[in-house]
Amino acid sequence: MLRIKNIGGPIQLLVVMGLFLVYYPMILGQSIESTPMQQAQVRILGITQDAGYPQIGCKSSCCEKAWLGTVERRSPVCLGIVDRESQMTWMIEATPDLREQWQNLMVATGWETKGILITHAHVGHYTGLMQLGKEMMNASKMPVMVLPRMAEYLRNNGPWSQLVSEQNIDIRPIVPDSTYQLSVNVSCRALLVPHRDEYSETAAFVVSGPTKNCFLYPISISGTSGEWISCS
Ligand SMILES: [Zn+2]
Ligand SMILES: [Zn+2]
Repeated sequence: MLRIKNIGGPIQLLVVMGLFLVYYPMILGQSIESTPMQQAQVRILGITQDAGYPQIGCKSSCCEKAWLGTVERRSPVCLGIVDRESQMTWMIEATPDLREQWQNLMVATGWETKGILITHAHVGHYTGLMQLGKEMMNASKMPVMVLPRMAEYLRNNGPWSQLVSEQNIDIRPIVPDSTYQLSVNVSCRALLVPHRDEYSETAAFVVSGPTKNCFLYPISISGTSGEWISCS
């Protein structure tokens, strides 16, 4: 089990990154053998940096194959949290590709997403919230769990403030290091991590199933979209 408490600044970043490097291959290894019927799981919905792949305007060889369609396009980092017993799903991050990622999770499970957890206010991580607005989904009080400064940012800056006033989203500020139950079998905890914090703090979420933790570091992850990771 991951136990991280009262660790400050850069040391915390090193610990978090270290745990990510050590722990993630372990859970990834387990995912290969996992079946989609396990109680609590995480589904990888995107793996890249904010811009996705290929990147806008890129004429270099790095993106050429993706533009031509000979290699698969990739979306910004995003995870789906699934509790099969509760028949409930959550998402971590509202990326610019939220529309596709939402659909992917819904088709894979059969359930509508119950809420969204967001790590920080860089464009690859929260701007997909626009899809919930009245021009698009016109969602009703979709729970959005964010750290306090991120909550203030969304409440006080358009167009995000319109999602609040129209009650498309219901902002639920979370306290670092506190545990929140998302469903019967799944809980989450936000760790404060150092990053370029222009508009908000940055959270790394620890997602816990009945017997073990799954982990997201907010910049990018290794793995493949559509891959299942067991938290049971
Ligand atoms: Zn490129
Ligand atoms: Zn960032």
